[in-house]
Amino acid sequence: MTDPHREVAGRAAAGFQTVYGEPPAGRWAAPGRVNLIGEHTDYNDGFVLPFALPLRTVSAAAPQPGDRWTVWSELTGETVAFGADEVATPGRVTGWAAYVAGVVWALREAGHAVPGARLAIASDVPLGAGLSSSAALEAAVLTALVDLGGLDLPTEHQPRLAQRAENHYVGAPTGIMDQSAAIRCRAGHALFLDCRTERVEHIPFDLDPAGLVVLVIDSRAPHRHVDGEYPARRASCEKAAALLGVPALRDVPAADLDDALARLPDDDVRRRVRHVVTENQRVLDTVALLRSGQARQIGPLLTASHASMRDDFAITVPEVDTAVDAALAAGALGARMTGGGFGGCVLALVQADQADRVATAVMAAYAERRFTAPGLTTATPSPGATRLP
Ligand code: ADP
Ligand code: MG
Repeated sequence: MTDPHREVAGRAAAGFQTVYGEPPAGRWAAPGRVNLIGEHTDYNDGFVLPFALPLRTVSAAAPQPGDRWTVWSELTGETVAFGADEVATPGRVTGWAAYVAGVVWALREAGHAVPGARLAIASDVPLGAGLSSSAALEAAVLTALVDLGGLDLPTEHQPRLAQRAENHYVGAPTGIMDQSAAIRCRAGHALFLDCRTERVEHIPFDLDPAGLVVLVIDSRAPHRHVDGEYPARRASCEKAAALLGVPALRDVPAADLDDALARLPDDDVRRRVRHVVTENQRVLDTVALLRSGQARQIGPLLTASHASMRDDFAITVPEVDTAVDAALAAGALGARMTGGGFGGCVLALVQADQADRVATAVMAAYAERRFTAPGLTTATPSPGATRLP
């Protein structure tokens, strides 16, 4: 089999050679991710279950003297250079290079002696499709700098640092899931993450032996003006937790849901709470099934998660509902939107021998509704950030 990462790794190394006139000292790869189940549970201190994709971002890197960092990305063809002064002040380095400066900033803030470095970035992770190209970029840069500098930063502490880069330097308010997935996932496993404690557990999710594939369908839904929706959902959840007298909705067990709902005054808030509480339970149920080797059986949980996002959390759009319905009608074992909502990707758990049939059905349903054709790929649970040989 050809190694699908060779190409992107080769492009990063060749880019390094062209831009800097010498070969890199090494190459580090970090994956995009999809979330198998557990949506809008992260900021409610709950559970998520992402796995890493075979799509990766690769940084080719070598040390350079002094506190200087230079980075080139194949994506833009730009080379951006910055020093300690620019790094010290969030906002000084802007655009895509802010993710790189942010990682240097977060490492220095945490007291690490970050080596000066030259970097060249190439990536197969599509940007802004909900597959977390930003965390892949952060992780590919972070692991390169940690290795080049011999920094004492255990893997379990790296996601928090990459998240700080994105929250504080770039200024994007994200949870801990994306960076945890990019750094800590393992091949053939999903990453069960408790967003309150940041405890992780690797849950077997090896599709091949089970005769299964996960189809990832990029809904290509046009951007709708939904910027206020995410903060609105968060605010509803926080309001509900306060009304119920708990630190977060994570603290409402599924068994107490009816009691909790009876104590809430507003139907919208009740529906938001029902989504979060049942979704946390679905993550736990999915983990239990996967632990006992019953990957096929998780299908109904995925589909129930979609219904909950559609009916209770109200974050789906016609394109993703169409993809889910068409996949299920064509024999998918389960299907759901993945990611924050209002577009992004759908994943479908499918018997391997049905994958073509399901893909064709989704394409046909899209064509019938005159939606922009969806993107289709299969996702094999892949490793987190690694140094390439
Ligand atoms: P997502 O993480 O869902 O793909 P984000 O908006 O969080 O979307 O992050 C996308 C941003 O990350 C891009 O706009 C760009 O600034 C940066 N980025 C990601 N990958 C690369 C890359 N290979 N080269 C340059 N910038 C990148
Ligand atoms: Mg992102």
